[in-house]
Amino acid sequence: MPVSAAAQTPRSAAPEHPMVPRPYNVRAVRRESYDTFTLELGSEPSADFAFAPGQFNMLYVFGVGEVPISISGDPTHPRKLVHTTREVGAVTRAMRQLKRGGALGVRGPFGSHWPVEAVTGADLVIVAGGIGLAPLRPALYHVLAHRKKYGKVVLVYGTRTPADILFGKQLQKWQDSGLPVFITVDRAAGDWRGSVGVVTTLIPRVPFDPRSAAALVCGPEVMMRFTARELQKRGVRPENIHISMERNMKCAVGFCGHCQLGPTFICKDGPVFNWTRMEPLLAVREM
Ligand SMILES: Cc1cc2nc3c(=O)[nH]c(=O)nc-3n(C[C@H](O)[C@H](O)[C@H](O)COP(=O)(O)OP(=O)(O)OC[C@H]3O[C@@H](n4cnc5c(N)ncnc54)[C@H](O)[C@@H]3O)c2cc1C
Repeated sequence: MPVSAAAQTPRSAAPEHPMVPRPYNVRAVRRESYDTFTLELGSEPSADFAFAPGQFNMLYVFGVGEVPISISGDPTHPRKLVHTTREVGAVTRAMRQLKRGGALGVRGPFGSHWPVEAVTGADLVIVAGGIGLAPLRPALYHVLAHRKKYGKVVLVYGTRTPADILFGKQLQKWQDSGLPVFITVDRAAGDWRGSVGVVTTLIPRVPFDPRSAAALVCGPEVMMRFTARELQKRGVRPENIHISMERNMKCAVGFCGHCQLGPTFICKDGPVFNWTRMEPLLAVREM
């Protein structure tokens, strides 16, 4: 089970009250794809924002609304608070229109984290689908900064089309520095020469020792279910599989019950869960 982040995570930038957003400004905007963008945020006075890989913040676009977004930056550089967001509706659309200097409220960090410390010593398979690479990126930064503590590390990434691939330059850099990166797209387009097919088709082919390997998985729920199944077929133990869940949430601290799934609150017990805990609950559909 992931250890509760609340017990471990320094909350230097957290507000006094978890429901009160702190004012932040946009320091930089980066377009990642046709519908996805990265915001780098900063506060005045400038302060570190300590977080654990996999945690999220509630981002408030003033006058529009507040949404949960995972932190996608480097936990070893806490001065830069970074989020990568796909535009899907009213709040994320308004967020995308923010320019350098624009204001945003931040509550957090919230939730559990990828168990990057608990899985040292063995192989590590990181499986991302689409925007799911954003919540996994801090785990990759951490693992690559402590590379010697892990066995083989592989990144397996699937997107709908080549145009949906995020962090392309960084993936190339990671690959050049020795991280095996396997990418596949559901539908090839343009001059794509790589693998075509859903991400689960890569799992039987990637190099890792399933007997001891741990897996970190993030993507659409259906992708995580099939990925967990493929990993287990390959021999990965279910208790070594960790996923990150998304549910509609409002308070992020277990008050409102919007994200409740059976007895579990995705916001405070998750979003990162061990597969053995989440599998039975995935039968509960969001209302
Ligand atoms: C813990 C957590 C971490 C998240 N991290 C990220 C992240 O790093 N980057 C990112 O882009 N998004 C992330 N999300 C999803 C993000 O919160 C939603 O996309 C956002 O709330 C949509 O708000 P909206 O007002 O723009 O759209 P809405 O008007 O609320 O929704 C527009 C459309 O998107 C669909 N939608 C809404 N929420 C989700 C969701 N959670 N998953 C899939 N479809 C949804 C709705 O059903 C609707 O069809 C995360 C969600 C959670 C719970």
